[in-house]
Amino acid sequence: MPLMPVITAWMIDLAIDGGPERMMWLSIYAGILVGLWALNIPAHTLYFSQLSHITRSIGRDLRVRICRQLQTLSLLFHYRTSVGKLHSKAIRDLEIIEQAPFLIFDVMLNFMISVTIAFIAIWLTAPAALLFFLIAVPISAVIRFGFYRILNKRVEQLRSSIETMSGSLNEMLKMIPVTRSHGLEQDAIDRIEPQIEHVYTYGRRFDVTRALFGSSTFATMNILQVLFLAGSIYACFNGYITVGAVVMFNSFFLILSAQLASAMNTLPQIIQARESLHSISEILAAPETEQNSGKNPFGPVKGAFELKDVTFRYPGTDVEALSGISLSVDPGEAIAFVGDSGAGKSTMLSLLLGLILPDSGRVLIDGYDIREMDLRTFRKQVGVVSQDVLMFSGSVYDNVVFGSAEVDEQAVWQALEQAGAAQFVSQLPDGLNTQLGDQGVRLSGGQQQRLSIARAIIRDPQVLILDEATSALDQETEAYVQESLNQIMQNRTTFIVSHRPSAIQNADRVIHLESGRITDAKENHCVLGH
Ligand code: ADP
Repeated sequence: MPLMPVITAWMIDLAIDGGPERMMWLSIYAGILVGLWALNIPAHTLYFSQLSHITRSIGRDLRVRICRQLQTLSLLFHYRTSVGKLHSKAIRDLEIIEQAPFLIFDVMLNFMISVTIAFIAIWLTAPAALLFFLIAVPISAVIRFGFYRILNKRVEQLRSSIETMSGSLNEMLKMIPVTRSHGLEQDAIDRIEPQIEHVYTYGRRFDVTRALFGSSTFATMNILQVLFLAGSIYACFNGYITVGAVVMFNSFFLILSAQLASAMNTLPQIIQARESLHSISEILAAPETEQNSGKNPFGPVKGAFELKDVTFRYPGTDVEALSGISLSVDPGEAIAFVGDSGAGKSTMLSLLLGLILPDSGRVLIDGYDIREMDLRTFRKQVGVVSQDVLMFSGSVYDNVVFGSAEVDEQAVWQALEQAGAAQFVSQLPDGLNTQLGDQGVRLSGGQQQRLSIARAIIRDPQVLILDEATSALDQETEAYVQESLNQIMQNRTTFIVSHRPSAIQNADRVIHLESGRITDAKENHCVLGH
């Protein structure tokens, strides 16, 4: 309401020297002011609702883009970036970015409208008062530039300390079962405490710098305003301006100084938003995306694999995780990889899934080079059972069917039967509809593993990857599940990594890996059930 001081000055002047029609003018002025304030309600609500639409849409679109990008980034990106850091970027940084347009539009728009109207009004009534501008603007600029670099540094330090702490917090949470069972609570706290301390220190430094900046701006503007008030009263003493004009000037100076101060005070937030934008661009602009779109899709996969002199090294390491690997696998064959830990078995499975690409050499699936194919269409036809079983919050049914089209309950029960899980599922409170996860039933490691086997079976995949698939099962259940797996493996290409002799026994070939090389590959003569 920058018109307020102008009309108020006219009203005050009416009291001093209003003439015969002063009652009429008083009513008109009061009516205008009341009307303008009443209009403010719908106007402000509409304006804010539009602004909120813009800012919330930016937030929503960025969130969706981040999730999409996280799903496209290769596993190598995920290996080197901690979940906690990603979490901090996706939650905290995004919130800061989402708030920024509110600030920029609201404060800046307000600033521009008020300052323009004040400027015109002063120009028309007393151009000499524009001196305030001439002095206040360069002073603001000096303060702004003086603080810019230091604020920038403080914001960066604070953000990166929060990210680091978030990473450690995530790790601490993941480690809680191990920590507690070894009585290492204090060690865990000692490890994270310095990071919390950093957040405190950098948070304090940022706050103090911001306070110093804010108060310098605020005090300077108010001092200027007092000086200008004194000047205008002096002008009134000498009869240059009326008392009403003094009140008007003072109101203008108050508006101008407050607007300038609040516009300046958005600087720390704008710097924060820019820093957060930079932070999420580490996800959005990360180069390690898996490029699938536009590539050739797989039709029904037969399951022939050919590795030609493949070498792979994890970025940032000196040793080759796989070196000079050549291997040819026919459709329907079962291959077991054995070797000491660190020999390259998991890397091999990641390579066969196309989750990592060879540094040199080629990987062909059904004769097609994986670099040229849309690997999502291949992976849809693969069943993977790994030792790290992951269940999400949802029913048993949802967890087993996961990503497959509608499957009828009978098929789910059959898969559960084959995975040795039917009995315990039928004993759950709601059977297939029992909720798992945070709010639901907690299953044992072995039970989860059996559900994950059922999850692979129900996809009826042409390629099966069994990475320590039965490691969490007791001997009796394992024998039963293994027997089912032997049946399922028939006519499907299967890759097995297991410490259990019973799992390896059923492979057609056993391939020994040592330090990323194949040292021995032989036909398995004790194949059972094949
Ligand atoms: P295995 O499954 O036989 O235990 P891996 O395939 O996990 O062996 O590891 C092979 C080699 O690659 C090891 O030297 C290991 O340290 C290294 N390696 C595995 N995963 C990563 C990773 N994400 N980043 C860097 N190096 C890794």
